[in-house]
Amino acid sequence: MQIKFLGTGAAEGIPAINCDCQHCQRARAEGGKLQRERNAILFQLPDYNMLVEVPPNTRGLINKYQVNNLQGILATNATYGYIGGLKEFEYWPTPLDFLAEPSLFEMIQVEHWTERLDEIMFAIPYYPGAALHFGQFSMIPFAARRRQPIFGMSIKAGEKQIVYASSTPGRLTNYARCLLTGADMLIVNTPTFKPPKEDHITLVEAIELKEQIGVGQLVLTHINHNNRPHDELDAYVRQFPGVVVAYDGMSLEI
Ligand SMILES: [Zn+2]
Repeated sequence: MQIKFLGTGAAEGIPAINCDCQHCQRARAEGGKLQRERNAILFQLPDYNMLVEVPPNTRGLINKYQVNNLQGILATNATYGYIGGLKEFEYWPTPLDFLAEPSLFEMIQVEHWTERLDEIMFAIPYYPGAALHFGQFSMIPFAARRRQPIFGMSIKAGEKQIVYASSTPGRLTNYARCLLTGADMLIVNTPTFKPPKEDHITLVEAIELKEQIGVGQLVLTHINHNNRPHDELDAYVRQFPGVVVAYDGMSLEI
């Protein structure tokens, strides 16, 4: 399994527009890993390439990383930063699957679905706790939030298990905790560095979680401008074996 991080920023991206915080100023001046497009991850699974999240700048990401072989798109969240680029696929030349939980799909349809997309995409509903089998791999979705339709996904291919927790709060359900336990890789959205942040797990809490549940590798992504710049985060996580801070364009193999 190969995983490519096309974008690793939170809703605002870095630099955020019209922001003169230190982090955004440095990102504008120095570029490189300090700049983050909004979160999008390409999972290269057996015979199935799946894009998870389609942020507003999806067109730019697809062109930059030359994503030309895609079978499915998976949505975990209906907010603009996650799904705002869906209409870019109106002109995609091949048929695509679109995976979303039904209430999430309903929300997406209100603002982001078009007749043209309906021609290209075959909507496949997923349900928390119900495995989706794709022959050589399988996925189990789980609810990440209590009141909003936001979902994580546990993917198993061969002996390897990867979990993408999406925008989970620090307080996971016991069910999600069971699914995460012992995963080979856990990818978590950690916009900010440390608590307090009730609606969202922080970077420090995600590292604690890794220790508690025995995950092989922890990948931190969806970083916002209130979090530390990439070089500082990179230096910080070096004291924790198996923790990686994602950057735009990073590829991992598992
Ligand atoms: Zn800023």
